Amino acid sequence: MARFIVITSGKGGVGKTTCTANLGMALAKRGRKVAVVDADFGLRNLDLLLGLENRIVYTAVEVLAGECRLEQALVKDKRQNNLVLLPAAQNRTKDAVTPEQMKKLVNALAQVYEFVLIDSPAGIEMGFQNAIAGAREALIVTTPEISAVRDADRVVGLLEAHNIKRINLIVNRIRPAMVKANDMMSVEDVQEILAIPILGIIPDDERVIVSTNRGEPLVLSETLSPAGVAYDNIARRLLGETVEFMDLNGNNGNILSRIRKLLSTKIV
Ligand code: ADP
Ligand code: MG
Repeated sequence: MARFIVITSGKGGVGKTTCTANLGMALAKRGRKVAVVDADFGLRNLDLLLGLENRIVYTAVEVLAGECRLEQALVKDKRQNNLVLLPAAQNRTKDAVTPEQMKKLVNALAQVYEFVLIDSPAGIEMGFQNAIAGAREALIVTTPEISAVRDADRVVGLLEAHNIKRINLIVNRIRPAMVKANDMMSVEDVQEILAIPILGIIPDDERVIVSTNRGEPLVLSETLSPAGVAYDNIARRLLGETVEFMDLNGNNGNILSRIRKLLSTKIV
């Protein structure tokens, strides 16, 4: 059965679109048929991150208006033929689409694609209800900042109220040196507050910015940068693999866990 996953957050600018582009590409590279849906009407940029902006002819809004068929609006990725993008319209108002219509679109995609990843606006914004309408699972992206985590907590409540039960967390932009110096919340701190299972930890990585500008998701590189590895690991976990988490707690964490390991070997 197809998996409908909404990628969402409480606060804007925490890395949802980057995450959607990379996860979509990583899953496609691993042989899955994937549709990524830009449900961030008004602030669309999934097309830019995928480098597909010049290939858009129709968008979800024309499909819903009956001006074209769904297949006509889907943009095939240039590099990965397992991946398609359903673009959002930028020039129409956000309420051009209703949650019911969105559900219909996503269900139609599920006939063909194994994964439907929906890039959503932040939880407080208009359009959020549309984005989550067709989803059965959610990935909440947050950065390790109090304001982002607090807003993410509210979104957990909203998602649960919409009967989305499978909710996982992605902590983005971790900087190990800052965590070590106690200048940044650790992944454990974030998880303690939100109390939802963790699916991924992504380091702050300047290659993300380079890849955004080029319209080439990081997971396409031959040699993956740290964030590229993190995105690919999340894709593998979505596919059911058990993949160890990167240790992004700085050296302190490493030493502690080494000592713990040493002690436990002695006791056994
Ligand atoms: P959202 O969709 O949540 O608004 P974006 O994916 O557009 O967020 O990302 C917001 C900004 O943060 C972009 O400029 C992006 O390049 C940057 N960014 C996201 N994730 C990372 C990361 N792991 N390391 C460095 N920069 C990042
Ligand atoms: Mg976005």
